[in-house]
Amino acid sequence: MVFKTIIEPFRIHSVQAVRQISAAERAAALQRAGFNLFGLHGDEVLIDLLTDSGTGALSSAQWAAMMDGDESYAGSKSFYRFQDAVTDITGLKEVIPTHQGRAAEHILFTVAVTKGQVVPNNTHFDTTRANIEYVGAEARDLVIPEGRVPSSLHPFKGNMDIDRLEATIAEVGVRNIPLVMMTVTNNSGGGQPVSLENLRAVRAVCDRHGLPFFLDACRFAENAYFIKLREPGYADKTPREIAREMFSLVDGCTMSAKKDGMANIGGFLALNDARMAQAARNLLILTEGFPTYGGLAGYDMDVIAVGLKEVLEEDYLRYRLRSTAYLAEAAERAGVPTVRPPGGHAVYLDAKALLPKIPPQRYPAQALAVELYRSGGVRGVEIGTVMFGKPQPDGTDLPAPMELVRLAIPRRTYTQSHIDYVAEVIAEVAGRRETIRGYRMVEQAPWLRHFTARFEPL
Ligand SMILES: *Cc1c(COP(=O)(O)O)cnc(C)c1O
Repeated sequence: MVFKTIIEPFRIHSVQAVRQISAAERAAALQRAGFNLFGLHGDEVLIDLLTDSGTGALSSAQWAAMMDGDESYAGSKSFYRFQDAVTDITGLKEVIPTHQGRAAEHILFTVAVTKGQVVPNNTHFDTTRANIEYVGAEARDLVIPEGRVPSSLHPFKGNMDIDRLEATIAEVGVRNIPLVMMTVTNNSGGGQPVSLENLRAVRAVCDRHGLPFFLDACRFAENAYFIKLREPGYADKTPREIAREMFSLVDGCTMSAKKDGMANIGGFLALNDARMAQAARNLLILTEGFPTYGGLAGYDMDVIAVGLKEVLEEDYLRYRLRSTAYLAEAAERAGVPTVRPPGGHAVYLDAKALLPKIPPQRYPAQALAVELYRSGGVRGVEIGTVMFGKPQPDGTDLPAPMELVRLAIPRRTYTQSHIDYVAEVIAEVAGRRETIRGYRMVEQAPWLRHFTARFEPL
């Protein structure tokens, strides 16, 4: 008998209390924070779905490994365990630890990219884009057209548009492309996967032109499991075999261990080119630390070494993708459209569809995010005109293409009843959609305004 319920593949060994907060406390917290959920204190939030980055639970095996952390400044045993874990999955020869993914990006782009060059990607994550622009290069997004359509059910919406990649190379010239990147899963596109067929096609283009190919590998394990579920010929392969095949196609990767490293902090740059690795290590010593710890404690590297094994366990990945889909189905049942199909790590509520009377300049996704918190202490994040709108000289905003609220699911942290509760909160808010008003932005910083902006209800 195969039972249909996909259970959390763990039992709880240590618990952290969450506090019920009264409606009056939530209203006061919103006022104090200027209706910006980034301004809330952790103890004012009941279910925190702001991000899946570094917010997951460690396993007992990870805590145990921490006790064995070797804090030697040079040649730490923890580093060699970390390096072995990374090499075992990626096959990449040079492993450079960093304190987060963005530090790996900064180092890679500093040593490999020069001013005026163009870096193609399916969709650059915001720190990736910022680090490329910081060295004076252009970050170009070449995801397939379906990847930009929320309702499209394409199984691999993170795929690269191969024709546009070829056209970009023809337009700017091979010498102006230092490397090609692919983000797996495609975070900024809704956590959508990339197929092996597409990775192979990108590899073939890179081979034809002699270009290096790198992965932004933050959610490589979730991507591998989507391949197992959706790509013909992979149903009988293990996630580890699929991950190895993905990495076998590339020359290097950047990684945030706060995602599929199952850690609270950490990252790495891994690559095959020994000369580039030497240049990266020279910069690493300047900005992160000695090459056998690069910005991490010994025990952090042990946590990641264990996390990289646990993240590829099939029971975990089945539960992980199912729990995200479960919340998406509940939101749809409550009458709130979502970006489809659900990605690996988050559910994206479509505020434009739910609140059609609030124009983008009145921030419908911000209004929806505020109501989810006001109603039930659930914190998500606006991904719409607050985050991506462009302020115009006349004080209005050029709207973002979509108005979304992202509910990101921390790894191994919340149970099914927590998620059922979130679904109830979504349904309550959707039930009073007619009464929800927009906001006016009354304070904003010149860049990354979404972190600190203040709002007033209309
Ligand atoms: C989180 C993330 C990064 C940056 O990693 P940090 O550890 O937050 O610096 C880069 N790319 C993608 C796709 C990410 O999700």
